[in-house]
Amino acid sequence: MTVSATAIRCGHRGCTCEFGEQWGTAPTLVTAVRTVATVVAWAVAVTTNSDGWLLAALLCYWIGDIADGSLARLINRETRTGAVLDVLADRLSICLVVTSYVTAHPPAAPPAAVFLAQFVVLDAYLTLAFTRWSLLSPNYFGLIDATVYRLNWSPPAKVINTSAVVLVWLATGSSMAATVLAAAVLGVKAFSAVRVAQLPVPRVLSGCAVRDVHSAAASPATAST
Ligand SMILES: [Zn+2]
Repeated sequence: MTVSATAIRCGHRGCTCEFGEQWGTAPTLVTAVRTVATVVAWAVAVTTNSDGWLLAALLCYWIGDIADGSLARLINRETRTGAVLDVLADRLSICLVVTSYVTAHPPAAPPAAVFLAQFVVLDAYLTLAFTRWSLLSPNYFGLIDATVYRLNWSPPAKVINTSAVVLVWLATGSSMAATVLAAAVLGVKAFSAVRVAQLPVPRVLSGCAVRDVHSAAASPATAST
């Protein structure tokens, strides 16, 4: 997955040749801080049996997740390492908050189960799929496939995918409504996963995602992952 230092810069925003890989960046520090804050708030929530602290943990995750990505784009410090750590930190945060919430509120179990399967398995698979190409993060998946990008990482898709189920549950308290919505999001993720699995995989990473796509289409490698 390393990119040759001699890779010719292509000028596309989001290609790996545009930025050297490093992990000690300010956005990654924000990811670490927001994850520690989420875990601490979660620990307080479970020891004091407090929904308020659980909500605080969820907000630490949500606000921190928006902050690290926004900062990375703002200061041009997006890295593949940062993107992968962000994905893993998200899954830890969500699993802690959702499982603790369901323990205290069993009627939330059906939508939570569908949501966790979607977020921890399908969405993680999709979000990490960008590493098959010379991309810095899923935010540039449009260079590979416009449909998968629009359904998963365009700004409206991000908001709907990560918060719609939670907001519907909190607003209506309807297990049925939240489960139906969670299943709809799961359906979108499953459709996207099948589409990603069918994309030709480049044999080598050129440093430019567009070049990767052209070379994969010219001599398709067998998709093995
Ligand atoms: Zn490029």
